[in-house]
Amino acid sequence: MRAFLNPAAAMLTVVLSGCTTLYPPAPMKGHSPAPAGLAEELHQSVTHLAVTIGERNCYHPAKLTQAADWIEAQFHAMGYVTRRMPVAVPAGPPYFCGRQTVWNVEADKSGTDLKNEIVVIGAHYDSKVAMAHWHDDGPPLPQNPGTPGADDNASGVAGVLAVARLLKDRPLRRTVKFVAFVNEEPPFFQTCAMGSYAYARALAKENASQKCAGRKITGMISFEMLGYYARSDQAKRPFAVGVTGLTSEPDYLAFLGDLSSGDFSNACGEVFSRHAPIAVRVSRVPVIHPSIAWSDDWSFWQIHVPAFSATDTAFLRNDHYHDVSDTPDTLDYPKMADTVWGLRFVVETLGTVQRD
Ligand SMILES: [Zn+2]
Repeated sequence: MRAFLNPAAAMLTVVLSGCTTLYPPAPMKGHSPAPAGLAEELHQSVTHLAVTIGERNCYHPAKLTQAADWIEAQFHAMGYVTRRMPVAVPAGPPYFCGRQTVWNVEADKSGTDLKNEIVVIGAHYDSKVAMAHWHDDGPPLPQNPGTPGADDNASGVAGVLAVARLLKDRPLRRTVKFVAFVNEEPPFFQTCAMGSYAYARALAKENASQKCAGRKITGMISFEMLGYYARSDQAKRPFAVGVTGLTSEPDYLAFLGDLSSGDFSNACGEVFSRHAPIAVRVSRVPVIHPSIAWSDDWSFWQIHVPAFSATDTAFLRNDHYHDVSDTPDTLDYPKMADTVWGLRFVVETLGTVQRD
């Protein structure tokens, strides 16, 4: 998750907003709650990434590799076919971590009769390197401790792994690709070395090839910070953001996307509300400035695929955002399990229901 704090962009967002829809929980009759054990599974995944591995980015390449290996092993253990897709990091500015090749990790769930239609469910697995200030100013300071990234974004990866596990034996009509992205955090955000941008372009290129004639991506969801539901001082929350409809109450999940993804995110919000005992606010932001973006969904907007972030709203509620204090003990795993349980049905619906 990257903070958009450009003041002009933030103000324009407020002026042009008003596109937030609240979907309170409206459970379907006979609906079952999140299975026992899901909260603990999420807790274990978050702890492995944030504590056993810890800070993971290009400035600590062995940790980044360790995270990619672990995620791939989890997918393998579920029976998925995986592939690692390279992302080239050039030497020099603005990265300063040396020339290297790092990896996105993809698990493929091949569709039945609509296998040429692809749904991408992703989360970034890197955590932010130390910088002079939490809101991403200045050069990387890798000699200082960066964030262990429990909420940002071990929680998102834990969510992707859990949904992949929950759906592994369920045939879906469309193909679903579960992806762990590298290099979402600054200084990579919205650059050519951003993992999801490289992935989106590579998949679009494959789809355009003769071998994959007719194949297309129908939608993408970025799981970006799913675990924080406590009250805090909200010291990082810009005052004007309330006008957008994203309230300061830490009792909801948000689906944040651009205006052109509005139909997609609203449809997903409706499904979520029928399956999760937690409200969702769907926010459709007019992208009138490139800095208005939160996460890896941005990369899919660039190739004209509807996409949004499912998020606890990050720095709007979580004061540990991008700090060393973003640790597993700050997260609420039963609430996170409710959230992931709702997302499981969203993914299943995207994989099955015929749309125009
Ligand atoms: Zn972040």
